[in-house]
Amino acid sequence: MRNVQAPHGLGGQNGRVPHPDQPISRRAARAAVAAPRARGAWKSKVPLRVRWTAFAIAFWAVAAIFAVSAFSLSGARGPGGAASVATSNAAAAAVALPGGADATAAPATGLPVPAQTGAAARCDDPAVVAALAAGKDEDVVTAFGGGAAFRGAVVDGVAPCVDLGDPHRLWVVVDKKRPLNPLDVEPSELVAPADMQRTVDGRLQPTAAEALTALVAAAAQEGVGAIGLNSAYRSFASQTRTYNGYVNSLGRDAADQQSARPGFSEHQTGLATDVAACDSGCGAIESFGGTRQGAWVAANAWRFGYIVRYESGYTDITGYEAEPWHLRYVGPELAKAYHDGGFHTLEDFFGLPAAPGY
Ligand SMILES: [Zn+2]
Repeated sequence: MRNVQAPHGLGGQNGRVPHPDQPISRRAARAAVAAPRARGAWKSKVPLRVRWTAFAIAFWAVAAIFAVSAFSLSGARGPGGAASVATSNAAAAAVALPGGADATAAPATGLPVPAQTGAAARCDDPAVVAALAAGKDEDVVTAFGGGAAFRGAVVDGVAPCVDLGDPHRLWVVVDKKRPLNPLDVEPSELVAPADMQRTVDGRLQPTAAEALTALVAAAAQEGVGAIGLNSAYRSFASQTRTYNGYVNSLGRDAADQQSARPGFSEHQTGLATDVAACDSGCGAIESFGGTRQGAWVAANAWRFGYIVRYESGYTDITGYEAEPWHLRYVGPELAKAYHDGGFHTLEDFFGLPAAPGY
């Protein structure tokens, strides 16, 4: 903590504050009551009781300045806004370390300190720091106080340790304005979800795969029928082949209507899956919305950490026509906050700009 010195004139010479129980020099007494004297209120013979009162006021004034300065220094550690979101885990850790360099280097500018909601301190929370370092994203959200608190901190710009552009995090947002970075990034681990009909290459990140298995089991148990996996992870290379195929046959504008550009697809994260109704053989994904399974998924996917990413009526925000079959895994905490908050796009959920086009 920076050493804070009281401004001259408030605490006596060099900021020294006489203790009320100690003898008081005339010099110190003059300094302490300089303000009243300037208004002509000072008399050469002042009753002792008045002097004591004057020193008490000066004493508490200095104490108040210490308190305000300390608050400014600690508050200045907070971010300036969403633009300062950390771009790497290393940067996040540097910001998050309690008592780190940023804690002592913050200049006392005297400028107003932005109002803090209390959420900023969460990035310093040892549970948050540990979960981030361990890559346990769901635990990070929980340590923030749950999905709604996590979202609030991000939207308020007071969660510098949360990078919505980090392709390896549960909270990554990919849309036509937010490509993956790097464009050809690959998930660190992919597995095939168990106990469902699926295509051969249908793989997801492990937590998303487990959640999809639970979702499919629950749908069957609750009597709505079978759900199968049509498509999940797609590599940058396969997306490039698909997209270029459309460009070659239809032209770029038409290709953009049919396929995400390479590096702009949620499928590349391993957190998105297209599902189909599989009552008697699996149907086309395009017909999923009209099935019992489709209605059930729209109402219940959040219970398993999934959201329907592209809903009807939000093309001007997401950039995609309704896709009732395209599910995005965000984890149970964020999915619950998304559902309970009545959100329909991930862009609105995290306070991001609309992404109607590239
Ligand atoms: Zn999809």
